[in-house]
Amino acid sequence: MTSKRSVIVIGGGISGLAAAWQLRGRAEVTVLESEARVGGKLRTGTLAGVAVDEGAESLMALRPEAVDLAEAVGLGRALADPAPAPVTVWTRGALRPMPAGHVLGIPSDPEALAGTGLLSEQGLARLREEPSLPASPVTEDVAISTYLAERIGREAVDRLVEPLLGGVYAGSTDHLSLRSAMPGVAGIAGRGQPLLAALHGRPRPKGSFVRGVEGGTGRLPLAVARACGARILTGTTVRALERTASGGWRVQAATADGPLLLSADAVILAVPAFAAAALLGPHAPAAHSELSAIPYASTAVVTMAFARDRAGLGGLPSGNGFLVPPVDGHTVKAATFLSNKWGWQANAAPELFLLRASIGRNGEEHLLDRPDRHLVRTALNDLHRAVGAIGEPVAARVTRWDRGLPQYTVGHATRLARIRHDVAGLPGLEVCGAAYEGVGIAACVATGLAAAERVLDRAGVPG
Ligand SMILES: Cc1cc2nc3c(=O)[nH]c(=O)nc-3n(C[C@H](O)[C@H](O)[C@H](O)COP(=O)(O)OP(=O)(O)OC[C@H]3O[C@@H](n4cnc5c(N)ncnc54)[C@H](O)[C@@H]3O)c2cc1C
Repeated sequence: MTSKRSVIVIGGGISGLAAAWQLRGRAEVTVLESEARVGGKLRTGTLAGVAVDEGAESLMALRPEAVDLAEAVGLGRALADPAPAPVTVWTRGALRPMPAGHVLGIPSDPEALAGTGLLSEQGLARLREEPSLPASPVTEDVAISTYLAERIGREAVDRLVEPLLGGVYAGSTDHLSLRSAMPGVAGIAGRGQPLLAALHGRPRPKGSFVRGVEGGTGRLPLAVARACGARILTGTTVRALERTASGGWRVQAATADGPLLLSADAVILAVPAFAAAALLGPHAPAAHSELSAIPYASTAVVTMAFARDRAGLGGLPSGNGFLVPPVDGHTVKAATFLSNKWGWQANAAPELFLLRASIGRNGEEHLLDRPDRHLVRTALNDLHRAVGAIGEPVAARVTRWDRGLPQYTVGHATRLARIRHDVAGLPGLEVCGAAYEGVGIAACVATGLAAAERVLDRAGVPG
């Protein structure tokens, strides 16, 4: 009888759980999670009796991994499309819908912007020059703004691209890597093609870019944890890793009941870069220093419930929410009108209007050094200015995500290659998670699945 390989997955976020799911039936899996619950950045709580996502609230549907996983673990019927609505930017004193066809804020057709007020006349004129500018191949990785400002002008970067990237990465185009944060655009840049024409010619994906889960995306990790058959130990913080004499790994963890020692043939590190760096220090010095150098942005999500019958003079807002460019000087970086965006959330409490506002981009940690009630007031003030007097919330919650989003800064791909090279020298050890090849849920799921396959491949376990 051949016994199954044992694998310890450290980190019970969606990346680690996806790895555990991929290993089901092919390994004995234990997931160690420091928090009292699995899910990491996918967490659904309740506000005024209604389920609300406190972290991620939608699954990217342009790539299949997250939606496929949700379907595989029995959540297919719970997948929901958001109400159709354009991406809206609060800029130049008004809420201004973005015309369809943009790619992360880069418009493929400048004429579609005319009349939207998103750009000044000068900004629009500068954008219209793009097709006639010389385009030589960009062979090095550069900051997104370095490339884009030259092509489409600084104003278009500031007012169209920054708010989108602020929403996804909580990062700035002055630091984020073109190659890692906008790989499709980096491809166009690398080929030396004029940008707008290349974007204009790209096939447009059909259907919604994102999907939600009725009852909250926090249901996804719970369903994966249930379906993967792994032993899951929450409240278990891994402190150190050691090699065993037999070539496996020993894991030292701290729990409320005291220290815990576990051994396994293989370990998958599915924790944020700073946590992976600490654990890899004694074993992979190059990976340790590269992982330590990945910056993180901290953010806070302010979720509020308003009684519809007590809405302020401005009434309740329409649309799905808005994004805010830093150049406009407001504190809130995005707002999502949950009761408009998600039918399930409106149906759950027809008498309430739920919304959430996000505060904090990379480098704005000081904004979060305030008590919760100040953050709620700040968010309300910005909302009142953006959409009118909507009244006072009947309930509010602040969820802080300290070092919540990794920043793919210039050179990220090279950093990643060094990490992968160093880790490849450690048999039975793999890394996965948001720090590597995409921060979105689908990309995280993909890294978890791939890490699990590498563990099995390196052990010679057939697929
Ligand atoms: C506010 C916010 C909103 C977001 N919105 C969206 C969205 O709408 N759509 C989208 O696609 N993406 C979104 N994202 C990004 C996405 O949610 C995350 O990138 C993704 O969930 C990260 O998953 P992960 O498993 O890699 O990491 P995490 O979720 O960080 O999980 C890692 C886990 O490891 C545990 N851990 C850490 N150290 C240890 C240790 N030493 N021992 C044991 N356990 C440990 C942590 O407690 C955590 O549970 C959002 C992120 C944030 C912060």
